Amino acid sequence: MKSTSMGTETQTGAAERPAFEWVDDASLPNTLRLPAKAERMLVLNDVSEATLATPQVAGWLADPDTRVAAGGSNVVFATPRIAKAAIVTATDWSAVPTDASAIELSVEAGMGLDALVRATAGRGWFGLEALAEIPGTVGAAPMQNVGAYGTEIADRTRWVEVWDRQERRIERFARNACDFSYRSSRFKREPDRWLILRVGLRLSATPPADWPPVAYPGVDKAVADWSARTGRARSAMSPAEYADVITTVRLAKLPDWRGGWPGSAGSFFHNPIVTPEVAARLSRRWPDMPRFDAPGGVKIPAGWLIETAGLKGRREGAVAVSSRHALVLEHHGGASGAEFLRFAESVRDRVEDETGVRLVVEPECVTDR
Ligand SMILES: Cc1cc2nc3c(=O)[nH]c(=O)nc-3n(C[C@H](O)[C@H](O)[C@H](O)COP(=O)(O)OP(=O)(O)OC[C@H]3O[C@@H](n4cnc5c(N)ncnc54)[C@H](O)[C@@H]3O)c2cc1C
Repeated sequence: MKSTSMGTETQTGAAERPAFEWVDDASLPNTLRLPAKAERMLVLNDVSEATLATPQVAGWLADPDTRVAAGGSNVVFATPRIAKAAIVTATDWSAVPTDASAIELSVEAGMGLDALVRATAGRGWFGLEALAEIPGTVGAAPMQNVGAYGTEIADRTRWVEVWDRQERRIERFARNACDFSYRSSRFKREPDRWLILRVGLRLSATPPADWPPVAYPGVDKAVADWSARTGRARSAMSPAEYADVITTVRLAKLPDWRGGWPGSAGSFFHNPIVTPEVAARLSRRWPDMPRFDAPGGVKIPAGWLIETAGLKGRREGAVAVSSRHALVLEHHGGASGAEFLRFAESVRDRVEDETGVRLVVEPECVTDR
């Protein structure tokens, strides 16, 4: 259902579903396509206080053994079976114009992030277009402060509304209270405490001053190609057209998370930040090493380190380092989570042996606890 009044727009869809339901032997979707099931899963089609405070629901969520599931694009199921899970499937969102150019959104956690990017960019609203084609849900986005091509979800976030699983109440954190940092937030740093229910975002109906952003060489070239193809000035590009350009750039190097093989969890390791001394040592050995100044030191692309260790394209059975993008580990079907993780560890060890830099895994590894 869609309703508009005085420029306010509301999208709802859950009216016919029960507020919550239980599923036994529930499959847990994940983009690595590793086998994963929960013995029992709570499905939250509604995230109102009345639903969450229902004793059965609040009790299930208060148990630290209950795992919050979502799109499964940033997890490695090291075990094929977990006991208890909960998932938010509520996808309603509303948009309120607050002045001549700002639009304030409230989006429920179960909505797909890419679906939200397309919906807002398609309305001509600027702010999320650089996040096109990132898999996963809106609710998971603040967890690791998802980001791409110079935009992080933190940049657009006004607040995050959560269910405090311990205190059994709803809380709303203003952006500054979310402690966002590179691929992290208070929600990630305090596991099993928060169930993210809704995210408040602020977008703009007018382009930013430096539109369109082309700080990344691949994006700059793709925008130039678009301009040549359409005969239009770069500055005339709509947010939806920019989202399409980003999609083209991403699909050229990342496996398609919507289906098929290989499965992946996107970038598997964080780009390490090393001390200037370590960076200088590496630069002496590899003068062409890419390096970027970052808070706390020098950021080295993890993909470059993996490639330098001679691992790009390396395949062992059903698991491999992508031959297109060394930061992506692939599952080609038939591996267990434990086998996949063993391969990932061998990549990390080999990189450390060759370069002295120890990589840190980005996705969460789910074990049976
Ligand atoms: C091909 C590919 C490309 C990717 N590209 C990028 C990229 O460019 N930038 C980037 O930042 N990431 C990227 N990722 C990683 C991933 O898309 C993001 O981390 C995404 O936010 C994960 O969303 P999800 O719904 O799949 O969460 P899941 O993977 O299911 O969960 C991730 C974590 O969040 C928790 N969680 C999920 N929902 C909630 C909730 N409502 N409340 C509390 N906790 C919750 C889970 O318990 C888990 O700990 C990529 C992944 C893939 C596979």
